[in-house]
Amino acid sequence: MDTWDAVIIGAGSAGLSAGIYAVRSGLKTLVLDEKFAGGTIADASLVVNYPGFAEINGGELAEKMASHCRKVGAIIHDLEPATELELMGETKIVKTSAATYEAKAVIFSTGSHYRELGAKGEKEFRGKGVSYCGVCDGPFFKGKRVLIVGGGNTACTTTLYLSGLASEVIVIHRKQKFRAEESLISDISTKNNVKIMWNTEIQEIKGDKQVKSVSLIDNMTNKTTELAVDAVFVQVGEAPNSQLAKAAGVETDEHGYIKVDGNQQTNLMGVFAAGDVSNQPIKQVGTAVGQGITAALEAYSYIKRPYYRK
Ligand SMILES: Cc1cc2nc3c(=O)[nH]c(=O)nc-3n(C[C@H](O)[C@H](O)[C@H](O)COP(=O)(O)OP(=O)(O)OC[C@H]3O[C@@H](n4cnc5c(N)ncnc54)[C@H](O)[C@@H]3O)c2cc1C
Repeated sequence: MDTWDAVIIGAGSAGLSAGIYAVRSGLKTLVLDEKFAGGTIADASLVVNYPGFAEINGGELAEKMASHCRKVGAIIHDLEPATELELMGETKIVKTSAATYEAKAVIFSTGSHYRELGAKGEKEFRGKGVSYCGVCDGPFFKGKRVLIVGGGNTACTTTLYLSGLASEVIVIHRKQKFRAEESLISDISTKNNVKIMWNTEIQEIKGDKQVKSVSLIDNMTNKTTELAVDAVFVQVGEAPNSQLAKAAGVETDEHGYIKVDGNQQTNLMGVFAAGDVSNQPIKQVGTAVGQGITAALEAYSYIKRPYYRK
């Protein structure tokens, strides 16, 4: 069996930062990703809040992090999902789609996935006008009329992005106020092609081969409206990719985020979590990077120092 000091599951901002610090601490380190190394930030068209880069395309930032991690000597396996884990003992077992590995420490940095609405027609039209990523799919709807569902930072960022592409952007939010940064809300108010419908929810997404319309309901008056749209961008948040961890005995909070202490330590010795999958409240590249670093250095302490706190 292939034996490692640290196996890091997930090669996004958190996992790649953990990889850099683990290798530089002298740990033999394997980083696994079910897709390609880089993680979610690759979906962002422009990142303007990561220190050192006043403006950088998300894909470029992701690629820079992955190549930095490889350069220091981490072994990264793309397209190799972890599928089953045994974490209770001192030796951790990580089974993947391709192999079984032994590790002294495991770091979860599996991020999160887009939350679905559960609306009628949502699954049927996924990829046929229903999208969860404005940056990825927005350019397909240049000059069209699009609907955005949500009221947080992601929905507002997507609204601003799509207002530069679509002819008309309609935002529906089930509440009467956005829960987003003030600067985003004020930028939206300057866009002439953005219309906001408060207290509104989707009943059904309709179409033939592609999305053609939606049925909306005002949750205060119960009045329903039919609206012709070419796309529906669902932007109602994310849910953590923590099922694997949970199945192996790692404790999660009531929303499924992995519970960690200030050192990114989970309830299991030698098992750490960092980034969006952890229950740390801020979900950003900068925080994922910091948590990844802490997790790697704590894993180092756990493996190499006999006096590591228990
Ligand atoms: C559209 C968009 C724009 C954003 N813009 C910004 C921004 O401007 N600034 C900012 O700071 N943040 C931004 N964010 C948030 C930022 O992308 C995340 O906070 C950050 O990527 C979290 O990093 P992470 O490493 O925790 O998770 P991720 O980057 O999501 O990485 C998790 C990785 O784990 C892998 N994985 C999952 N399960 C498994 C498994 N079983 N086996 C192996 N691999 C697995 C996934 O494939 C993925 O690559 C944005 C997010 C989105 C969606």
